[in-house]
Amino acid sequence: MNAHVCRYAPSTSGDAHPGTLLAALLAWLDARQQQARFILRLENLDPDRSKPAYEEQMLAALTWLGIDWDELEYQSEQQHRYEAAMDALAALGCLYACTCTRKEIKAHGQQAVDGSWRYPGTCRHKRLSKQEWRENDAAIRVALADKNISIIDESGADLSQNPFQEMGDPIVRRKDGSFAYQLVVVVDDAAQGVNRVIRGRDLMPSTAMQIALQEMLHYPRPVYRHHLLLLEENDKKLAKYHKSIAWDIIKQHYTAEAFIGVLSQGLNLGVQGAAINPGDLINSFSWDALATDDRPLLWKDNALCWGHDA
Ligand code: GLU
Repeated sequence: MNAHVCRYAPSTSGDAHPGTLLAALLAWLDARQQQARFILRLENLDPDRSKPAYEEQMLAALTWLGIDWDELEYQSEQQHRYEAAMDALAALGCLYACTCTRKEIKAHGQQAVDGSWRYPGTCRHKRLSKQEWRENDAAIRVALADKNISIIDESGADLSQNPFQEMGDPIVRRKDGSFAYQLVVVVDDAAQGVNRVIRGRDLMPSTAMQIALQEMLHYPRPVYRHHLLLLEENDKKLAKYHKSIAWDIIKQHYTAEAFIGVLSQGLNLGVQGAAINPGDLINSFSWDALATDDRPLLWKDNALCWGHDA
């Protein structure tokens, strides 16, 4: 048995890009350095944006990079898990149907810490039983306790938050019938025995919310470590819709080893060189040495180059 279980959980809703590949590499290095079990979980529940072609591309991109996994799972095949968790939340009496529109929520003007609008609780009285949630076709939310969650990231960052006050009750099943990220990530981590969550800093504001759901469902709490993000020129997080440096373009100009050489040079992954095999990074990889600041990785004249002062 491996003592540690780590995972990489990309959404397959767009092209793989350097940010995706960096997140995969960091989660993999963390896992391999401590002989952890490494799970690849494809988050493919978004009915509008998830596509089988992106799933295939993700597997191809990771294979190209030299990243292997001990287990592969597709969220679309785990509906029974999410339904069982919904039943458990219904048994606690905290599921409710929400018919508010985005506009109505925004009109309350309560800003959430992740930049969205906090749900003001308008529909909280419309509680759903185990039977009722299945038959209801509105969005479904969970009523959170008004309680502070203390959590220190492994990087040292204090992620403590009162998710009820700072985010509001989360949607757990969307109006289109699909289960929502905040629920499924918690259910999958628990079902797969994940005890180390390595992921990008953009998910820091969601961590306390996810722990609140874990506590309601009596799941153990993993260790969390959030890492730097790669940015676009305008300092926004590299997004999957950012076509110019999608992986299929990079691979026409770079070998995987040369691409890792660029990352290692800009971020200090441990070994310096023009071309680096990912396996050669495992021993020397150190979170303490790795860069901590988010920074742009740009595509100019068919080459990757670091923005800011790198
Ligand atoms: N699917 C999320 C993403 O691609 C990551 C989820 C997680 O690691 O918790 O950003």
